[in-house]
Amino acid sequence: MRSRYAIFGNPVSHSLSPRMHNAAFRALGIDACYGRRHLAEGARLRETFWALGIDGANVTVPHKEAALAACDLLDPFAQKAGAVNTLVRRDNTLHGYNTDAPGFLKAIAPFAGTRVLLLGAGGTARSTAIILRETGYDVTLLNRSEARLSTFAADGFTTHTHATLLSALSASEPLAHYDLIVNMTSAGLNDHHLPAPRTILEAVIPQSTACIDIIYGHETPFLALARSLGKPTANGEEMLLQQGIIAFHFFTDNRYPSDTIETAMRGALAL
Ligand code: NDP
Repeated sequence: MRSRYAIFGNPVSHSLSPRMHNAAFRALGIDACYGRRHLAEGARLRETFWALGIDGANVTVPHKEAALAACDLLDPFAQKAGAVNTLVRRDNTLHGYNTDAPGFLKAIAPFAGTRVLLLGAGGTARSTAIILRETGYDVTLLNRSEARLSTFAADGFTTHTHATLLSALSASEPLAHYDLIVNMTSAGLNDHHLPAPRTILEAVIPQSTACIDIIYGHETPFLALARSLGKPTANGEEMLLQQGIIAFHFFTDNRYPSDTIETAMRGALAL
């Protein structure tokens, strides 16, 4: 019987996941299809999944926390991260995984350095900060407002608000050195904002080895600034690809080789 998969989100029309997964199914000769499903209320994710009778799904903004609550069984990392972006049906139970963070880890592997400054303190920053620290990176978080930083600080991460770093700069205190600076905010997604005040970015970027944005599809103001300061840059396409490969392995119980999946998905994304 044909297997069926979908991505849930709000909005979801922009998602490239159907293109990636369908290309991999075709390349491997698997009788399966992957579609999109707009979901207004995260609380209805579980019933919608069962009503559609699908075999697995990806979940995007803003339902990754709701997806965690929808699962019968959670992968230990997804539980720690507090967010699920991949659902797999097994024996009529729903299993939840987080492939965003391991996908990000693979995407930054080519860049040298272990000191990472994450701009933002939302859901993606949380799962990413945890996996980076577990892998040996030294992670600092910089966020616009205080509220979301408190759980990171309680977990032992170094945290700063924009205001703290601005006052350090105006007191001529040197800022710490970071190898990789990563935009994990939504600044630049649908607007022209930098993810942090220009003064801060112009102080930290010149000392870095590379700047990465997890937004893809266009050059964000953050990456444009990094490029103008002569730094190597990368956008979120590689993370998108890598999280998709890991999700595909979960959907198909690791039965297919990564290189065929990767070639098909890269082709679909024209990477
Ligand atoms: P959340 O809504 O959980 O967090 C948003 C964060 O962005 C908060 O820290 C918020 O700060 C900050 N922020 C929002 N607007 C601004 C602004 N104008 N200036 C400075 N900070 C701002 O988002 P997610 O973690 O779910 O997603 C973050 C981004 O990552 C999105 O753009 C999403 O599209 C992208 N993404 C890409 C993936 C990929 O595969 N490439 C995978 C997953 C996500 P505050 O706390 O002050 O409000």
